[in-house]
Amino acid sequence: MTNASRLLIKNGTLIDGTGREPTTNALIAVQGNRITQVGRGDGPSRPETPDDTVIDAAGKYILPGLIDAHCHISLHQGALPGARYRSSAEFCTLWAAHAISRVLRAGVTSIAVPGGKWFTDVTVREAVEGGLLEGPRMVVAARALSNYGGIFDPDPYPAYEGTPKDAAGVLCNTRDAFVSETRKQCKRGVDLIKIADSTWGDVQTVAEDEISAVVDEAHRRNVRVAIHSRGSTSTRAAARAGVDLIYHADLATEDDLDLVAKAGIPIAPVLTSPWIGVEHGAEARGYGGRVRDRLRRQLDTSFRMIRNARDRGIPILSGSDTGNASAFSHGKWHGKEAELFVNEIGTTPMEAIIAYTSRNARLMNLEGEVGVVAERELADIVIWDSDPLADITVLQRLNEISTIIMDGRVVDRDAAGGFRRLDDEPGRARIFAQD
Ligand SMILES: [Zn+2]
Repeated sequence: MTNASRLLIKNGTLIDGTGREPTTNALIAVQGNRITQVGRGDGPSRPETPDDTVIDAAGKYILPGLIDAHCHISLHQGALPGARYRSSAEFCTLWAAHAISRVLRAGVTSIAVPGGKWFTDVTVREAVEGGLLEGPRMVVAARALSNYGGIFDPDPYPAYEGTPKDAAGVLCNTRDAFVSETRKQCKRGVDLIKIADSTWGDVQTVAEDEISAVVDEAHRRNVRVAIHSRGSTSTRAAARAGVDLIYHADLATEDDLDLVAKAGIPIAPVLTSPWIGVEHGAEARGYGGRVRDRLRRQLDTSFRMIRNARDRGIPILSGSDTGNASAFSHGKWHGKEAELFVNEIGTTPMEAIIAYTSRNARLMNLEGEVGVVAERELADIVIWDSDPLADITVLQRLNEISTIIMDGRVVDRDAAGGFRRLDDEPGRARIFAQD
């Protein structure tokens, strides 16, 4: 597009991400990577010129690109015949480059990446920003800071050996170790420090003064802090320490939530991953009945916690935990969280859309830049064939995506980001379907 030429989206119904009533017969103009006009097709507008690219969205629904607040990119690598060292920095980087292409093609134009291997996600973010790769906007953490017994120090790693270099967590067993790892990651360019408490939340592994030390250090360097905290006392400690985001928080009591509300901290509950574990865990991950029962209970406590949190005005963010394992395949599950919000929590489809767009933009530190379709915002727009307000599961149907516009450019969905679409070829799907 030349400077004067525009991308015009005409005739569709606009659901702009703010929660405002949809606009029928909308006209949206994009110039460069910004939205320059949002109005009605019969309103005043600069006349069309032959240089303009026109997208006719008649009968379709125009939304901001989805924002997934919990999407791992380099955390887990599936099997690939012939690839011997899947956890190497080199393979992780290639895997990540492929994964972001799949995420973008699912209509997700921004992601928060709360933990991964090496500094792969920082590098991939830089490659996207620099134009080397096509992918969503990324707010990234590196290895999760965990001490003995935290979720990233699982039992297969004996404490006397420590966490291997290619793990997605890094052992920090003193306050100084937490601070020094935070400094190292800030220097390498993370947007987010991820602290990891225990897997199930039954014990608190990270001490409050360790969380405070990380928050102090990161905030001084303009980096945000997120924590995997499922437990009651860890959520309380995180609230007092002033983290920027709490993942899970399912065991938080009403008293704990009072503290979270007072501190003004959002919660990203992450319903999709336990849901997948319950529904598909047996075949996809070999989960026995006991693990699935535990996940079922986790879901039930999460639903209750979210209702309590909403009563207190705590912002609830929407994230899928895509990329956590092969069962959480990139591009497949991003829209599921919105369905669970509607069907299990009882939010309106509109509120689920807000959670997946403008509210998540806050976490991305991109409030006012993405998450709504409005003048002067960055042009991250997805056009869907059906109305997600009538059926929220539309957001899971990739075959109902009509057009994806990322940073003002229409994404060529057949190009697959320059990678062969091995996973779409018959007989090769197993590559991405199993560990
Ligand atoms: Zn996760």
